[in-house]
This record gives sequence, structure tokens and C-alpha cells, in this order.
Amino acid sequence: MKIPAIDQGTCNLCAGCLEVCPEVFSFNKNLGFIEIKDMMIYPEDKIDEAIALCPEDSISWEDE
Ligand code: SF4
Repeated sequence: MKIPAIDQGTCNLCAGCLEVCPEVFSFNKNLGFIEIKDMMIYPEDKIDEAIALCPEDSISWEDE
């Protein structure tokens, strides 16, 4: 299964992915970074949209 991943080193916390796909991406206030929720099935279309919109190219698909 492929799962989305965020490169924390390049993410600028613009919150774009949170607006596009809040069911998958969330801001961890305690740790100060964007995290990806554990899901059985990820909504590919919306994550692809977030990938396309991310200004830092920080989101990618990874094989689990
Ligand atoms: S859209 Fe990209 S840069 Fe912006 S918060 Fe999400 S992962 Fe980080």
C-alpha cells in the first residue's frame, strides 16, 4: 500500500495541505509540524491535489 509522507525538513508550515485535505493532514500543535493521520485507505485524488499545491514539494507517496 502506498502512503503519503511529508519531508519535515522542507515543509514551511503554510497549511495548504490542511485546507485541501484536512481528513489526512493535521497540525500537531505540541510538536509543531504537520502530521499524517493513520488511515486504512487514503483519498488519492485529494492527496495528489495537496502534492500539486505544496509550495515546497514536501509531500510524496511512499510504499509501505
Ligand atoms: S502544503 Fe507543503 S509546505 Fe505547506 S504545510 Fe503542507 S506539507 Fe508543509
